[in-house]
Amino acid sequence: MFIDTHCHLSIDDYDDIDLVIKENRNVEISNIIISGCSYDSIVESLEISNKYDDVFVTIGYHPDQVEVVDDEKIEFLKEQLKHPKVVGVGEIGLDYHYGKENRDAQIVLFEKQLKIAEEYNLPVVIHSRDATEDTIECLKKYKEAIRDYKKALEINPKNTKNLNRLASVFILVGNLGEAKMTQQKTLNVEPNNSGYKEQMGTIEKIIEDEQKMKEKINENKFDEAEEICKKLIEKVPAFTDLKKYYIKILIENVKLQEALIFISKEITFEDKMKDSEFDYLTALTLYFD
Ligand SMILES: [Zn+2]
Repeated sequence: MFIDTHCHLSIDDYDDIDLVIKENRNVEISNIIISGCSYDSIVESLEISNKYDDVFVTIGYHPDQVEVVDDEKIEFLKEQLKHPKVVGVGEIGLDYHYGKENRDAQIVLFEKQLKIAEEYNLPVVIHSRDATEDTIECLKKYKEAIRDYKKALEINPKNTKNLNRLASVFILVGNLGEAKMTQQKTLNVEPNNSGYKEQMGTIEKIIEDEQKMKEKINENKFDEAEEICKKLIEKVPAFTDLKKYYIKILIENVKLQEALIFISKEITFEDKMKDSEFDYLTALTLYFD
């Protein structure tokens, strides 16, 4: 069974949506996640998800909506995020393909929605076109969240929601020790929360794999180290310091060419970078800047 994690199903694009969904079922697609990325398509995608058990949605304002999204539409988005079929925020992001005139406004809208996603504890679906560096910069601002959560926890150290979010941010920035300690505090307050337990499991597994990888490198068993390293790169979220750290290990200890292939996959939206060795190296510099 497969899940289609991102598609656009609209009556503007298909005459018969029922038929499209039926056809998906025939080819063993168990669930479809539709992206509602304008006011109208958010309304439409939620309506479709209400009709079908196997259809879910991500909702958020695409950068091409920057001129029309006002406070009211942001409030509407927040309200709809509580809908049981919503599984993420997006697609949101930056698009400079047709020009950069509204770059600042796009960044404001993107960051606003990243914060909302954080607030609602939802993953994001990113649209990034000709805007790699700015997209990465916006995502890096997650780091500021650490400071904010720590402040909030000084007032109420047993707020498990904030503890759990802080642990997530520590994973994003690659501080696994702090992530584990923070998650432990969450579990001290709510020992039976299955979501928190699961996240602890993920953190422990990453720490364990990282340890194993380092041992293999020390033993000069680079093939085995490479396997573990690749899995770690796939496991951790894109554009995080942790991912960069593993890619760096792959470059320094394993195979440069392999690492470049991995990086090129991470930045596939920069199509032009795929073409030559030189561009790979440009990409590398960009990536580690
Ligand atoms: Zn899309």
